[in-house]
Amino acid sequence: MTVKAYGAHAGDQPLVSMDIARREPGAHDVLIDIAFCGVCHSDLHTVRAEWAGTQFPCVPGHEIVGRVAAVGAQVSSHKVGDLVGVGCMVDSCRHCADCEEGLENYCDHMVGTYNGPTADLPGWTMGGYSQQVVVHEHYVLRIRHPEQDLAAVAPLLCAGITTYSPLRHWNAGPGTKVGVVGIGGLGHMGIKLARAMGAHVVAFTTSESKRKDAVALGAHEVVVSRNAEEMAAHARSLDFILNTVAAPHDLDAFLVLLKRDGTMTLVGAPATPHPSPNVFNQIMKRRAIAGSMIGGIPETQEMLDFCAENGIVADIELIRAEEINAAYERMLKGDVKYRFVIDNATLAK
Ligand code: NAP
Ligand code: ZN
Ligand code: ZN
Repeated sequence: MTVKAYGAHAGDQPLVSMDIARREPGAHDVLIDIAFCGVCHSDLHTVRAEWAGTQFPCVPGHEIVGRVAAVGAQVSSHKVGDLVGVGCMVDSCRHCADCEEGLENYCDHMVGTYNGPTADLPGWTMGGYSQQVVVHEHYVLRIRHPEQDLAAVAPLLCAGITTYSPLRHWNAGPGTKVGVVGIGGLGHMGIKLARAMGAHVVAFTTSESKRKDAVALGAHEVVVSRNAEEMAAHARSLDFILNTVAAPHDLDAFLVLLKRDGTMTLVGAPATPHPSPNVFNQIMKRRAIAGSMIGGIPETQEMLDFCAENGIVADIELIRAEEINAAYERMLKGDVKYRFVIDNATLAK
């Protein structure tokens, strides 16, 4: 079947309307009518070929929410009409140690929702800037939020799980002081989630204009990271830092804010490396720099349920599909409050 989509034919071309093929649903597949799709900075890195290996045409989008339109004969976990979501992956091997632990995101054969290998034509996956998608039932999540929140739930499928998983792994909670660096799509979710987990939250931003917002999002304290005095006030005080910044920057400025044995986890994935950190800042206080990639399917469901129970959604700006190129330009300036979400109904026009 053919569906309407928005994508690019080359890394230096704007996204345009295009028709793409979707496979007919197989026995274990779910066909989803996509209602909304969030716009992640990874979409921009990929579609502009900033990271290696983008296949064109490229249709990004891995923060997908919508309704089940049809299910294959063997599907037991979802039924027609259900509200569902799809995040950053649509397949994995399902039998390696990572998959068996529910950490499919770390499977060597994980297939991304776009730009991943597939037997479907044209040979790589196409994402959620499209009218419909066909996904194996294992990678389809249940949404328990009220339907009127659906657009604002979309960003949970990447920005939500990418921040939830490291916050849980490094034990953010009561009695811990957690820093969140960069208040964009990921960072604003990191603030909300760390607060809901019970941590004392310090937001770090380069944008003076986000100071007030950060408090409204749930930060107990806000630091404008360009201000050395404000930074120094937090020296050696943080248990954990979640760094979401999408561009290379000075990691030492944040490392020195960690307590002894603290960890800074990088989730931001800039196209060019950060300047090398000073090893003494790690040695002297046994500090660690770590990384984390999205989260597995069970933890993504846990995160969605946690957000539904705690009334957590993203702060979004809803856009029409044809506004996507302008939205990317604004993201590059840090001018987004705090996630663009495409209204996929506008793809039909
Ligand atoms: P975003 O909405 O564009 O937010 C990034 C934020 O970083 C900006 O709002 C800005 O916050 C801060 N920043 C500071 N200097 C910047 C600069 N020179 N250029 C851009 N941003 C700058 O991006 P996002 O969707 O949250 O994604 C953030 C990064 O995480 C991207 O690299 C993305 O590819 C990556 N990512 C990784 C995973 C994973 O699994 N590890 C998953 C999703 C995304 P302030 O204004 O507050 O300084
Ligand atoms: Zn993403
Ligand atoms: Zn596997």
